[in-house]
Amino acid sequence: MAKDLKVLLVEDNEDDAELLYLELRRGGLNVDMTRVETAEDFLARLDNEKWDLVLSDYNLPNFNAPAALEIVNHHETDLPFIILSGAVAAKDVVTLLKAGAHDFLEKNDLARLVPAIERELREVKMRSERKRAESTLKKLFRAVQQSPVSVMITDSKGRVEYVNPTYERVTGYTRNEVLGNLPDVMAGDFVSLDQNAQVWDAVNNGKEWRGEFCNNRKNGEVFWEYVTVAPIRDEAGALTNLLISKEDITYRKEAEEQLYRQANFDDLTGLANRDLTLDRLGQALERSEMAALIVVDIDNFKKVNDSLGHAVGDQVLRMAVERIKGCLGPGQTIGRVSGDEFAIVIPEMGAVSEAESLISRILEAFSRSLSIADHDIFTTISAGVAIYPEDGVNQSLLFRNSEAALSKAKEEGRNGFNFFTSHMNDRAEERLQMESGLRKALENKELCLYFQPIVDGQTSSVIGAEALLRWEHPVQGMIFPDQFIPLAEETGLIVPIGRWVIEEACRCLRDFHDLEFENFYVTINVSPQQVWSGTLVADIEKALKENLIDPKYLVVEMTESVCLHDTDDTLACLNGLDALGVKLAVDDFGTGYSSLSYLKRYPFQTLKIDRTFVRDIPEDKDDMALANAMIAMAHSLSMRVVAEGVETLDQLEFLRNGKCDLLQGYYFSRPVSKAEFITFKMTVS
Ligand code: C2E
Ligand code: CA
Ligand code: CA
Repeated sequence: MAKDLKVLLVEDNEDDAELLYLELRRGGLNVDMTRVETAEDFLARLDNEKWDLVLSDYNLPNFNAPAALEIVNHHETDLPFIILSGAVAAKDVVTLLKAGAHDFLEKNDLARLVPAIERELREVKMRSERKRAESTLKKLFRAVQQSPVSVMITDSKGRVEYVNPTYERVTGYTRNEVLGNLPDVMAGDFVSLDQNAQVWDAVNNGKEWRGEFCNNRKNGEVFWEYVTVAPIRDEAGALTNLLISKEDITYRKEAEEQLYRQANFDDLTGLANRDLTLDRLGQALERSEMAALIVVDIDNFKKVNDSLGHAVGDQVLRMAVERIKGCLGPGQTIGRVSGDEFAIVIPEMGAVSEAESLISRILEAFSRSLSIADHDIFTTISAGVAIYPEDGVNQSLLFRNSEAALSKAKEEGRNGFNFFTSHMNDRAEERLQMESGLRKALENKELCLYFQPIVDGQTSSVIGAEALLRWEHPVQGMIFPDQFIPLAEETGLIVPIGRWVIEEACRCLRDFHDLEFENFYVTINVSPQQVWSGTLVADIEKALKENLIDPKYLVVEMTESVCLHDTDDTLACLNGLDALGVKLAVDDFGTGYSSLSYLKRYPFQTLKIDRTFVRDIPEDKDDMALANAMIAMAHSLSMRVVAEGVETLDQLEFLRNGKCDLLQGYYFSRPVSKAEFITFKMTVS
């Protein structure tokens, strides 16, 4: 049931009031009516109760309609005010209507009363709804104005009708600069046509579109935003506006980019890493009929790193990259695929000669030295090329084959390049086979030691022997160390193999001593990896103990590259060996950095002059002078000198005159098996 209509009646005549009440009831209205006669009473009622309607007589003894209307107008309620009266002058009616009265009815003609009331009530309701809507709108507007998100409203064609202050702050454009224009999200330079079409496609189908835009601020700065475009439609369903909200996600984007960079780029050089390089290669192949992949490797980079330290090594890499970059043509890209190996992609190549001329430019670029921290460093590079599609139809095949070509270039003496040819993979295959063979060589007992006598320079008696490793391969026959030691070093197999050499050398030495080879010593060769493995001292100590050998009869030979890696570990190992009582010799002296004073920081007693200085005696006077200088220098540092590779009597005599302490070479004997060595030793002395 509808609730009673609360009517406040201003009337002095009780009968009139009664009549009115009946009239309203008859009209179908449930009324709860209160009658007042004075201004005070009227005001009190207004203040204390809620009313739906005021009906007022025009003239009362102490009150009247204009005064009542005045009171209502000062009251903040929106109350329909209807005047009921006898005859009133038309001009007064107009004045009252102007003052806010809603209707004016003659007392003796109340037929219009009920419809008039119903109309007024409807209007009050509409007015209050409009007010509510207005205040909601105001709140919404305030929310949009103060939103941390950029908001833009456009008409159905995308022309801007509204932007909020955040939009102005983020973009740097003022409202007046953008109103009426097509918004940048729809037509900005940075928004692809494709994206633009997607947006319109969505909104025309009544759907919301969300996505990321790359835009630019008024000052040109690029920024990223997450955009929602929502269509607004009228009741008939026609598109009237677009509501576009945009969140500045530049920070998030930057973080994402950084992650992407870390995953795809190399920190040191800023180049694409291996994964990204292969990815780009794949993309290049898709759009190319012919393309080339060139892998470039810095020759002897490890030596630079070991001898001059990683900081200089890093510098060399950076400068090398700059040099290579300087040679690249448009569209050609470079990435770093491993430590000192780079890959260059030539997409959409017209002729193979393009790859060749690029490599020539790069080789040429490295003919000048790099000057880094007071050093003039000469580096050369080697390169391998594979051509798409002949040498590989996808990126991994091309990569493998260009690396095979690179290995070939390295083998051929570095500072050059090679194109891939199909038989190169046979070599890679061979290497793999050798590696697995080498793993088995130990357990299958295919390794053995050969011995080469070391002779006293003055007396020519055999006072020791160098143990040299041989691999007696069941199929390939004897394999020399130069063919498998580098592989053993690369794969780490040198550590167990070297341990076997130590044990075997000590067992043989035990036998030699048992045969009464007096004061006889054996030298073994160790690789840098063994020194750095941390177990060398313990391994040697154990082997000596097990065979009851006085440590002074074992000499450990190593190249000076060990010492150039000047770390506490190196020093600890060499001092450990010295403390044990074994002797240390520098091998291949003269081929590396050859700094004797530097070597003196380590406990070496013996220096072995590399055979390349002996080879050309007596023809090469420089070599002869150098050999003599090395002997004199070593002696001044109280080191004994061994000359390697003595093949002729001339060489023997020259070295003997130069006071070389010990001699070794084919002139006396090639390296021979243990049994042969025993025979040799027994016959010469
Ligand atoms: P190296 O330490 O310089 O060994 C001397 C090499 O010179 C030996 O080659 C020897 O056969 C050769 N040689 C000796 N006298 C003459 C000569 O009069 N003329 C010529 N042309 N050559 C001569 P080999 O046995 O082939 O060993 C090659 C290298 O392999 C060795 O050079 C050494 O660096 C390494 N190596 C050998 N055995 C081992 C080992 O057990 N462990 C490690 N880490 N390396 C080893
Ligand atoms: Ca040696
Ligand atoms: Ca040597």
